[in-house]
Amino acid sequence: MRMTRVVKVGSVSMGGGNPITVQSMCDTLTKNVKITVNQILELEDVGCELIRVAVPDMVSVKSLKEIKKQINIPLIADIHFDHKLALASIPYVDKIRINPGNIGNERKVKEIIEKLKEYNVPVRIGANSGSVEKEFSHLPRDEALVKSTMKWVRFFEENEFYNLVIAIKASTVMETIKANKAISTLVDYPLHIGVTEAGTRYPGLVKSSVGIGSLLSQGIGDTIRVSLTANPIEEIRAGIEILKALGLRKGKNIISCPTCARSGINVKKIAEEIDKKTKNLNKEISIAVMGCAVNGPGEAKHADIGIAGGKNCVILFKKGKIIKKIDEKEAVNALLKEIDEVMDKN
Ligand code: SF4
Repeated sequence: MRMTRVVKVGSVSMGGGNPITVQSMCDTLTKNVKITVNQILELEDVGCELIRVAVPDMVSVKSLKEIKKQINIPLIADIHFDHKLALASIPYVDKIRINPGNIGNERKVKEIIEKLKEYNVPVRIGANSGSVEKEFSHLPRDEALVKSTMKWVRFFEENEFYNLVIAIKASTVMETIKANKAISTLVDYPLHIGVTEAGTRYPGLVKSSVGIGSLLSQGIGDTIRVSLTANPIEEIRAGIEILKALGLRKGKNIISCPTCARSGINVKKIAEEIDKKTKNLNKEISIAVMGCAVNGPGEAKHADIGIAGGKNCVILFKKGKIIKKIDEKEAVNALLKEIDEVMDKN
């Protein structure tokens, strides 16, 4: 894992080998405190660890204080173009996000730096395809993104500000990977990674998993956001699954087979029901739902607990060993009971 310096964002320590965090952004109107708080609380419930809200106007700035009071995770204000919105937001949030390139000029960015110092608030800076500096626009996009970002990193450092998180986001996977790999050799600030404007649910999930997964597997990335044109809850679920798939986060792992002509049970229905009923389980356990006993227990030998379809029955097995035969109707409840027992022992 790439060693980065630690940046404190409210109660969350980012970088320096701390667990990689999963974050999202509200799609509500920030000025509507009630709706925004409700969405954040829902996101907290599914594992969101930091939340960002857009601050497009002064009315939204006023809401920040109220929102902060009613939530439990660090609050990040996302500001574009208007440095006055950044200055007004800083006292009420745990971090801000700006693209210095669209703030207007160095004097305005300097004012933001002074305010951040005053309140000891970190800032995420960086560039995306829309905020590449003109002087670098002739370069290949990944290089232009890195150069635009580095220009501002140096500006913050010249102004003795190091409380930085860096994000470079391109809308293609390969550009995102290339640019993040390059910046990771140039700075030791925590990196926020993600593929921006990844798209609607299905293509977005694939692009984000490949982009984020590839970087994380190389030890690059300290906090992640899966960007989807979908409910932000899906972003958090996907982010957590990416971390689990890479062994970077412990938790429940459901192993289920794709089914074939040998299947003796409704794998899809049972697996979905088990997944739903164990949604709050955040301890390490692997649960298998396999269609048949021919390959099931063997293929899922490493699972802590599992079921497989048998002849007119369901086989319940633990670490590959069959422990009992039950009726399909009882399968879900029997499996849930065994899961409880395994969890009690752990
Ligand atoms: S576990 Fe059995 S039912 Fe499932 S895919 Fe393998 S052979 Fe087919």
